[in-house]
Amino acid sequence: TEELLRKSDKLSVAGQLAAGLAHEIRNPLTSLRGFLQLLQSDMKSKQHYFDIMLSELDRINFIVSEFLVIAKPEAIQYKRGDLKEILLRVQALLDTQALLNNVELELELESELPEIICSEMHLKQLFINLVKNAIEAIPKEGRIRITASLLGTDRICIRTEDNGCGIPEARLKKLGEPFYTTKEKGTGLGLMMCFKIVEAHKGTMHVKSTIGEGTTIDVILPIHSERMLQHE
Ligand code: ADP
Ligand code: MG
Repeated sequence: TEELLRKSDKLSVAGQLAAGLAHEIRNPLTSLRGFLQLLQSDMKSKQHYFDIMLSELDRINFIVSEFLVIAKPEAIQYKRGDLKEILLRVQALLDTQALLNNVELELELESELPEIICSEMHLKQLFINLVKNAIEAIPKEGRIRITASLLGTDRICIRTEDNGCGIPEARLKKLGEPFYTTKEKGTGLGLMMCFKIVEAHKGTMHVKSTIGEGTTIDVILPIHSERMLQHE
């Protein structure tokens, strides 16, 4: 009966995911359809309609690609990677967005960070998601600090700290649940993907938050997971 229970649990999770995904995809599709109908009857303000259609198409694409990473964690390819490079790239990618939101994005790296076995692409995505959330949590102006330091001899802790709105205690356990979002335009898939990526790297992720003060997320990754290198 235990096995049966687990199977039906999985089925219901899959069902919830499918229902949520269908809902998320249907909204932008409905909007696209409506604007296409409007275009048919009124070609005057077509530029604006095209803008909306393009951004809705981007949203469908974004949701589906976030979902695919979650669905196929075994497809991740591991190599030796440079965490410093990854974090610098993430900073470069999000600097402009931070600036536009009056957010200072600081990077503080321990000078001697060893190489780790990882998927650079996925780690980049992980930190992009965390920093984006941090930017979105800062209402007017603020700062985000990313620090990376050795934890003993075999692990690295990458900490993302923001002084944004914080997360109420009761909601902390909802983080990483599919489609849990408090944002009007959120997908609620970002943190779930983060947890999946960290888990695939045999690491752990810890969230601490105080309402009105900010949020700190620690990603702890092992350095020497040579086992993960299957194709070298
Ligand atoms: P989304 O960003 O699309 O809402 P996520 O899975 O990335 O989905 O995040 C889920 C929710 O967790 C957010 O809607 C927000 O309420 C909360 N959250 C995540 N990161 C932070 C943060 N740094 N500060 C405050 N709230 C956060
Ligand atoms: Mg997010």
